Amino acid sequence: MNAGFQLLPTTHPLPAAEREEILAAPGFGRFFTDHMASATWTKEGGWHDFRVTALEPISLHPGSAVLHYAQEIFEGLKAFRHDDGSIWLFRPDLNARRFVNSARRLALPVLSEELFVESVEALVRADEAWVPPHEGGRSLYLRPFMFGSEAFLGVRPAAQVTYGVIASPAASYFSSGLSGVTLWVSENYARAGKGGTGAAKCGGNYASSLAAQVEAQENGCDQVLYLSDDEERYLEESGTMNLFLVTADGELVTPGLGTILDGVTRDSVLELAAEHGLKPAQRQVSLAQLREGCASGEITELFASGTAAVITPILGFKGREYEQSVGGGIPGEVTTNLRNHILNIQYGQAPDTRNWLRRVI
Ligand SMILES: *Cc1c(COP(=O)(O)O)cnc(C)c1O
Repeated sequence: MNAGFQLLPTTHPLPAAEREEILAAPGFGRFFTDHMASATWTKEGGWHDFRVTALEPISLHPGSAVLHYAQEIFEGLKAFRHDDGSIWLFRPDLNARRFVNSARRLALPVLSEELFVESVEALVRADEAWVPPHEGGRSLYLRPFMFGSEAFLGVRPAAQVTYGVIASPAASYFSSGLSGVTLWVSENYARAGKGGTGAAKCGGNYASSLAAQVEAQENGCDQVLYLSDDEERYLEESGTMNLFLVTADGELVTPGLGTILDGVTRDSVLELAAEHGLKPAQRQVSLAQLREGCASGEITELFASGTAAVITPILGFKGREYEQSVGGGIPGEVTTNLRNHILNIQYGQAPDTRNWLRRVI
């Protein structure tokens, strides 16, 4: 089905000179483009009102479901400009499928994978001028989201739901050379448990992660390393990124799915492993194994993966009574090579042998 996200162009686009100034140094998540895509769902009428309009505030009744019971999900993907000016998405089908799965978990209506991709493409076309050239690792970050907008204070799935896509130009997280982060091993907080929402991309998971993030920063670390809530204390993820470790005998290990997010970057890294002479493995790794492995040199590199920063080296981690550096505290070779490989595919500078790119313009 092609709904036709109808474009009603803004009457007040940002002047080109101001846009160019923003695109020269966009940072991350600070500036927004001229347009947004939107659609509405009601229990009686299904999905309707597919539009691309001027970006504007959403007016909500104070009784709207999302404001009280956090019935909300989102996605994150990027549009990349190639040297010839063309614009491409990276594996948007996986984001579309994950959005369906998140919607089911949060009892939100399903937006078809076709409509999801169509909405993202329609916004990219409307805001084409906001996709920066790729120098400096720049791209246009796209943020689809959906929430219960019905005004009703009872606890049940909302009968009216709002869908939107907004876009924000993004610079590389590492514009001045690849650096890395340190992780705080959280003992006080868990991000997910069996049967919870750990595998869904929902705002509620992030709301409950903020206290742990503050604790990490108070302890001099950049981000949180979450563990499973059982006795074994298995590695889960960092809360916004999936985790990988590289072993001295050439394994690339990441925790298996279940209570963690099924990352698009995670999947891409696993797919590319063999081309880098690595044996991919999905299995549980306990905190004790991580600490011993990094101390003995059996684990040589640790990194995190996610759309925003692609691959982030992890240079060390810290808990209440210990501190451990990884691989000498500098970004490792495998980490750097995998990162460059994914970026080169995204920017059309390495062969896209798996058809991961989808052309928009
Ligand atoms: C989005 C997200 C990731 C990374 O997924 P990508 O598809 O690679 O961007 C990892 N963990 C959580 C909790 C996330 O929300």
